[in-house]
Amino acid sequence: MSEKKRFAGKTALVTGAAGNIGLAVARRLAKEGSHVVLLDLDQGKLDTAATSLAEHGVKVKTVVCDVTNYTSVEEAIDYAEKTVGPIDLLFNNAGYQGAFAPIHEYPVEDFQRVVDIDLVGAFHVLRAVSRRMVARRSGSIVNTASMAGLQGPPNMGAYGSSKFGVVGLTQVASKDLAPHNIRVNGIAPALMGPGFMWDRQTELQAATNTQYFSTDPETVKKEMVAGVPMRRLGDIEEIPGTVAFLLSEDSSYITGVTLPISGGIL
Ligand code: NAD
Repeated sequence: MSEKKRFAGKTALVTGAAGNIGLAVARRLAKEGSHVVLLDLDQGKLDTAATSLAEHGVKVKTVVCDVTNYTSVEEAIDYAEKTVGPIDLLFNNAGYQGAFAPIHEYPVEDFQRVVDIDLVGAFHVLRAVSRRMVARRSGSIVNTASMAGLQGPPNMGAYGSSKFGVVGLTQVASKDLAPHNIRVNGIAPALMGPGFMWDRQTELQAATNTQYFSTDPETVKKEMVAGVPMRRLGDIEEIPGTVAFLLSEDSSYITGVTLPISGGIL
């Protein structure tokens, strides 16, 4: 059976591309024929990520950019379009979890930092890419929200609020951009482990003991898994297929949706 190449000849921009989910999605898009531009904060990590995509025979470029700075985002996208081609697909995924504390003790500066990266940063990239897509009347975008953006988790005031914002941004942008033939959807991953949240969160949940009964991280892990209808954690590799579906023409009449990837929690 020949392999599906839904994105042959397309160009994708992936933000947070040196991280777990970003790189897994970039790999899938490259495998399906898309050229990819990897955007993140650190050139060394981007180089490692780019090397891991070489086998797919597509163009791979890297760009260092802090998504909280709109001027840098514009420059990064100019660079991407000049060196690779017009961006057809955007995976808007850079993120930062921030502090873990109840709202009455939440560090004020950290709240601002998380909102700046997770919500304002997502808006910056969405704005800069979509205004170019509007001129071309074509494009497909997926924003990374989180289960935390659909149900407010304890101790994650900044992250939860920002990700609720990303869900809202996705809905608004989908309506603004639909007349321009651009679709905007989102994903809301839940307990992906091990990685970004799992190890840190189980320790912190155990320490604060607000949501789970135990103060022992290993028991908290069991409690968390017991709360998932599918009775297991998600795997990072269960995300790229969903993102590729939402970016592709296979979802051509779907826009404004944030799809939970949650083993049935949502
Ligand atoms: P990760 O930490 O491996 O990747 C996040 C990447 O974003 C990092 O490479 C980081 O350098 C980059 N980044 C952070 N701030 C940036 C900035 N200002 N400018 C540019 N890049 C920046 O984490 P991950 O698990 O791959 O998370 C990716 C996305 O998925 C995030 O938006 C996260 O909130 C979301 N998410 C993750 C999980 C999970 O369990 N892993 C669950 C739900 C949502």
